[in-house]
Amino acid sequence: MPHTFTVWQCNGCGRIESQQACTGACRDGKVQLIHHDEYVALEKQLAQSQRTIGALLDMLSQLSHATPRDGQWELCFRQAQTRARATLARHRPAD
Ligand SMILES: [Zn+2]
Repeated sequence: MPHTFTVWQCNGCGRIESQQACTGACRDGKVQLIHHDEYVALEKQLAQSQRTIGALLDMLSQLSHATPRDGQWELCFRQAQTRARATLARHRPAD
């Protein structure tokens, strides 16, 4: 999880601990913020996770619709295993 910090933000005008003058009958409320760099890193992680989930769902969909002919079960299994290994190799997180 990213490091968060708490600041006061005016519910009336949106001021966040700045020198901006309030517009009138304002009240401060706490909001949670994260640094932009951490947000960007999380966006990248999310995009990668979505690509991985998509690839896994595609693989599961293919497997769920496969109907090997008699005598072809082992070949079908081996092909699915090869696709699974390739998918893992493409989407395994770097250490
Ligand atoms: Zn204000």
